[in-house]
Amino acid sequence: MTAGQFIGGGASGSYLEQLEAAKQFMHDHNDFLVVSHVQPDGDAISSTLAIAWLLDRMGKRYTLANEGDIPEKFSRLWGFDGIRTLSQLSDHLSYDTVISVDCADFSRIGRVSEKFTQGAKLLNIDHHATNDRFGECSVIQASAAATVEIIYDLSRHLQMEADVDFGTCIYTGLLTDTGGFRYSSTTPKVMKTAADLLEWGVKGSELAEAFLERMTFQQIRILQQGLATLDFHNNGRISTIVVSTEVIEATGASNEDMDGLVNYARNVEGVEVGLLFKQRNESAVKVSLRSAGAVDVAQIAQSFGGGGHVRAAGCTINGSIEEALRRVVEEVGNKLS
Ligand code: 5GP
Ligand code: MN
Repeated sequence: MTAGQFIGGGASGSYLEQLEAAKQFMHDHNDFLVVSHVQPDGDAISSTLAIAWLLDRMGKRYTLANEGDIPEKFSRLWGFDGIRTLSQLSDHLSYDTVISVDCADFSRIGRVSEKFTQGAKLLNIDHHATNDRFGECSVIQASAAATVEIIYDLSRHLQMEADVDFGTCIYTGLLTDTGGFRYSSTTPKVMKTAADLLEWGVKGSELAEAFLERMTFQQIRILQQGLATLDFHNNGRISTIVVSTEVIEATGASNEDMDGLVNYARNVEGVEVGLLFKQRNESAVKVSLRSAGAVDVAQIAQSFGGGGHVRAAGCTINGSIEEALRRVVEEVGNKLS
């Protein structure tokens, strides 16, 4: 299975029609592989588990997978122990029915896609405006604050009576993808949904404490080291933070520990775009872009082969960290002028 086989296959239509197509897809098949993006965040994990919960209720069989390690902090969520890493999947098994969640393009699935059979049928559920509608069936809603918001709508479309376990997954995705109900994606619908979930008994403050407030030692160490590199460009309108492989190794920080680090660059007064450069190895740099609103960083990330949202996007650039910084700062500078 190659990425090319999937591109542009997904039918569009109204949101309701897309939800209906997703419902049919789930009804028509019996054994699913549910995948999310590499280095999964709260929305990716929660969406995977919320889909699993629906499939469970529908009496379907499923396998949940992600390429790499699954952040342990989400272990309180229903079904967490069922998520397999690529290395835990059987060498001999492949899957012909796939649901991908929170993946803007096929490559975001990572090497788990090696487990898809040739011609596998794929349902693509996502909220990134840059989603290229890979898969034979897709539900793409860019106005949704998180992929879980779409899955919540899907549960209602399925007329499924949900419970607090499902609600906790939905709430977690909303909470983490909106930065604690603060980003501009926090619509009245998000707040109404969150209010309903609290009424179901979801422990909102405990989830906020666990997923937003708590910091690991590694996280505070990388923050300390990262802030030491804070730099400004273009008259203080662009801010950068750099973390080298040495610093990542010395602090023992995981990707999850570096979540949110880029916000320190973005949040400085006068800054329009905050950038974080994480060295992956000698030749690859992961870049996180955050905009205060004036610049569409999804467009910039896309020009480097990545994607995301208008105010939060990412990409991976081949080359040294200095080279990546020079190229991205120049591109952002062009957009600002
Ligand atoms: P982060 O900077 O936190 O990794 O990602 C910010 C946003 O951009 C997320 O919505 C994420 O899904 C998206 N994103 C990050 N890296 C990539 C990438 O390489 N490709 C695409 N298409 N989206 C990305
Ligand atoms: Mn998301």
